[in-house]
Amino acid sequence: MPGTFTHQFDSSFFKGNVAVNTGLFINGQWTDSVSKETIDIFNPVDGTVITKVAAANAEDVDIAVKAAKQAFKTSWGLKVPGHQRGRLLYKLADLVEKHQDAIAAVEALDAGKHFIHAKTQDIQDGIKNLRYYAGWADKNQGKTLETSEAKLAYTRHEPIGVVGLIVPWNFPFMIAIWKVAPALATGNAVVLKPSEVTPLSALLLAALVKEAGFPDGVFSVVPGYGAVAGQALAEHALVGKVSFTGSTFVGRKVMETAAKTNLKRVTLELGGKSPTIVFEDADLEQAVKWIVYGIFHHSGQMCAATSRIFVHEAVYDKFLELFTAAAQAVRQGDGFNEDADEGPLVSKAQLDRVLAYIETGKQEGARVVTGGARAGRAGYFVQPTIFADVRPDMRIVREEIFGPVGVVAKFSTEEEVLELANDTQYGLSSYAFTRDVSRAVRVANALEAGCAFINSSALLEPQVPFGGFKQSGHGKEMGEYALEAFTQVKAVHINVGIKL
Ligand code: NDP
Repeated sequence: MPGTFTHQFDSSFFKGNVAVNTGLFINGQWTDSVSKETIDIFNPVDGTVITKVAAANAEDVDIAVKAAKQAFKTSWGLKVPGHQRGRLLYKLADLVEKHQDAIAAVEALDAGKHFIHAKTQDIQDGIKNLRYYAGWADKNQGKTLETSEAKLAYTRHEPIGVVGLIVPWNFPFMIAIWKVAPALATGNAVVLKPSEVTPLSALLLAALVKEAGFPDGVFSVVPGYGAVAGQALAEHALVGKVSFTGSTFVGRKVMETAAKTNLKRVTLELGGKSPTIVFEDADLEQAVKWIVYGIFHHSGQMCAATSRIFVHEAVYDKFLELFTAAAQAVRQGDGFNEDADEGPLVSKAQLDRVLAYIETGKQEGARVVTGGARAGRAGYFVQPTIFADVRPDMRIVREEIFGPVGVVAKFSTEEEVLELANDTQYGLSSYAFTRDVSRAVRVANALEAGCAFINSSALLEPQVPFGGFKQSGHGKEMGEYALEAFTQVKAVHINVGIKL
């Protein structure tokens, strides 16, 4: 029998016990993995093991996918009217809202997040997305197309069938909901593979999906290793689509696997190295605040981080002074304590990766303005770090670090900075700070990225699509556009009078 992990939270933010099933959730039931293998789950604040969860292998994934296929055929898909799918999603949103403290606490514990951020940002964003797509469930209709009097032609937006959702560890709950909500609203059956590092909030979500009353098999969770469970999902012949968020390396692999198997549809969100431009007329204090949030929030483990910063020469020194002071004021610690603003990196592997990049930056000759080392002894903390006077060819400028490390360069003209900004394989997000409306529009148009934010860092809304250009991936999450990612268009031609 699969176990349960119970944790007693005793923080001024949240007190209480939370229990999480640590098995696989397949066909509406909690189960052990076939192999009985488990994965250790660590607390990133001190590196201790907090629990173990079942590790799915290819056999478990096969069972989950077959159950999903059966559910899709018999009790989901277009068999269930949109308004009923919507009602279930509204109910799920209400349950998430009711249990928001428990979900936020588990998310904070597992991913090293600050409890308040988990609660007021990630979980609220999840609730908003569930309600947004609940509203779409009965509105994703096709079109009637004018052809001739003798023919009726129309389109249907049909669900794909079984969809595999592979999500990362940086926003485990929120990114899962970005995929789960549109997938279920459009009538697909879901098999969700959380990251091996942070599976707990997905398991809590499974319990709420069951309580909401979704038919068995419509939603399964298979925690497991990426190379085993994730790979099995990407390979499976009955999976019609994989929606993936993670590294470019693995995203490429998922696409390759899809090409080699059943040519399943793939959407990819693969991170970035987002250009962040501060013009000489910007409100400098506001720009610094947004950029600090964009690169040091959640210790920089954000795909849309404000990581590649270009500052006009007229305000370069002043910007660095304010940016450095703000970086030094970030208080790191346990996200359940009131004296901490930000938690640690998620894992030892991520800690080593970020420290290796910092070493590379030093060797490449970038100037460390502040930070540049591990912070504290226990836990996976890295000091908020700023490199200044960086060159475009440096690895710390070209590659995604995914840690609290901002790189800053000086520019002189708009034309020059647009060249620099677009000189990247990535294209997820981009940022510009200016008071000049004409320049704002010109720059937003010229930046090669799926999002352009003017005078803020990434503030996402369920109605607005999010997703990259270039090697940041393709396909959109959120907004009406995400419905396209989970449906296929069928054209129906009815002959009402054409004779041969
Ligand atoms: P990965 O790309 O390895 O992981 C993302 C997801 O893919 C996880 O659920 C992972 O499972 C799974 N996965 C791993 N291998 C496979 C496979 N062969 N087939 C299918 N799924 C697989 O990211 P990492 O967690 O290793 O992070 C590395 C770097 O990726 C980060 O430093 C960052 O640069 C980038 N990244 C970008 C994110 C974004 O939001 N765009 C999010 C996270 C990371 P498991 O975790 O169990 O291995």
